[in-house]
Amino acid sequence: MRSKIVAGNWKMNNNLEETEKLLAELSAKLPDTEAEVMVAPTFVNLSRSAHVLESSTIQVMAQNMHFEENGAYTGEISADMLLNIGVDTVILGHSERRAYFGETDELLAKKVIKALEKGMRVMFCFGEELDERKAGNHFKVVEGQLKNALFSLENGAWDSIVLAYEPVWAIGTGETASPEQAQEMHAFIRKTIAQAYDTAIANKVSILYGGSVKPGNAQEIFSKPDVDGGLIGGASLVADDFVAIIKAI
Ligand code: 13P
Repeated sequence: MRSKIVAGNWKMNNNLEETEKLLAELSAKLPDTEAEVMVAPTFVNLSRSAHVLESSTIQVMAQNMHFEENGAYTGEISADMLLNIGVDTVILGHSERRAYFGETDELLAKKVIKALEKGMRVMFCFGEELDERKAGNHFKVVEGQLKNALFSLENGAWDSIVLAYEPVWAIGTGETASPEQAQEMHAFIRKTIAQAYDTAIANKVSILYGGSVKPGNAQEIFSKPDVDGGLIGGASLVADDFVAIIKAI
């Protein structure tokens, strides 16, 4: 069975004090769940977060990573640096990285390869923009993003990949994809992977939905057969909301 996952992407929010407070609140309120629970604090608070959560079931992820080993890449963070502080999962391909920092499928392919080579787990994000959906190109766009960044990987690599479908038009906008739209795309993603690889791989990869997931809509979205959980932005910054979303799975 593929794992259920509820993950919080904290983006560029919370200083160290706020991060520690939120982690303490989450740890205290964490419900019993079969789902994996993860949070991605900003880089400067990662080491502290990993330390605080050392004996917790809450896992810590990084929001990004560079594809080179080390060297003259000012402002960048390597896989080894993350592993060294106890962080072995990394979000790659978030639409904000693509839109504001020029990350392309080709660049992301390099990052994915490096992370996997280092034994890390990758939460790979992708999704279409509003004009692409309006033009009816959303399936083609998503297929292209998967193909360009992931479909050169060997079968075994898929054990370390989690997918997060995040339609750009639903991120931080309050506009959620309907549970039916999410299910339709997730089923398409699974079919596309089955065609490129095989059904066993397609059936075991967890596919999360992200984009304005809230306590009020989580349960319906998570009830869809091909939705294995969520990658939560805004609502993951409020402990009670994030806990309610975890309970919804
Ligand atoms: P929101 O939940 O704030 O829409 O953000 C989703 C997201 O981008 C998670 O990575």
